[in-house]
Amino acid sequence: MTDSTLYIVSTPIGNLGDMSPRAVETLKAVDLIAAEDTRHSSRLMQYFDIKTQMWALHDHNERSQADRILQRLEEGENIALISDAGTPLISDPGYHLVRVVRDAGYTVVPVPGACAFVAALSASGLPTDRFIFEGFLPAKTKARRERLEAVVTEPRTLVYYESPHRLTDTLIDMLEIFGPERYTVMARELTKTFETIHGDRLEALVKWVDGDANQKRGEFVLLVHGAEQEQREDLDSETRHLLSTLLEELSLKQAVSLACKITGLRRKQIYQAALDMKATDS
Ligand code: SAM
Repeated sequence: MTDSTLYIVSTPIGNLGDMSPRAVETLKAVDLIAAEDTRHSSRLMQYFDIKTQMWALHDHNERSQADRILQRLEEGENIALISDAGTPLISDPGYHLVRVVRDAGYTVVPVPGACAFVAALSASGLPTDRFIFEGFLPAKTKARRERLEAVVTEPRTLVYYESPHRLTDTLIDMLEIFGPERYTVMARELTKTFETIHGDRLEALVKWVDGDANQKRGEFVLLVHGAEQEQREDLDSETRHLLSTLLEELSLKQAVSLACKITGLRRKQIYQAALDMKATDS
């Protein structure tokens, strides 16, 4: 082990068999482990007989803890960062810490392992050559819908994290915004007893989840097939003129609805053109 290194150590997302020997070895060898929740991680420590001192590092104390960790690195110590599950920094704390540690010139070494979205994507059957990880959607409906609308014509596979209490609302928003035909995969409880990876058209998927309370339990990754290329086709100049006139007088939503009615074109196509026009204007 080299001097003064910060190790970013992945831990299992359910199945303890996914803990790598290198992760165990690193956590045993370092002088300090910064953990998102020390109580939660103490079970993992016990299981693997790791006795290293732990400090809590979470969203609310990351800045002050980063200063203390820098000090320990300056003293020549090695430190590991873990989160409650999976890979730290992936929808988990640690970004600020890694920035300041790298800026201070110390080595940051990843010890890779489980990550829920990579596991989900690898087994989803969706295109994996190009994808976007969107993390958690906003909790508020308006912000959530805006985030979904912003990627309605995105051709790459879309990957989201979701919690059980927002699953239904998110799926319904996806159904309305991406449309009933969009193929979507729900990966639930990965590596655990009730692991389920189920894909269908959004309309059928919503019905399936709705009809089985068990499918709303646990942890989820939602993966949405990218938009078909035709949805990105440019509008002709007449339609563009109509849309820009409507946008001058009406809200984006009203202008898009009216333009759809007048032209008979798909909402997704008009919506994306309207977003592009707004972006160019601002
Ligand atoms: N850092 C973690 C990683 O590498 O995947 C993610 C942490 S984030 C706070 C927690 C979210 O990850 C959950 O709400 C869920 O969306 C997803 N997740 C974590 N474990 C999962 C599992 N076993 N099955 C499905 N999704 C999981």
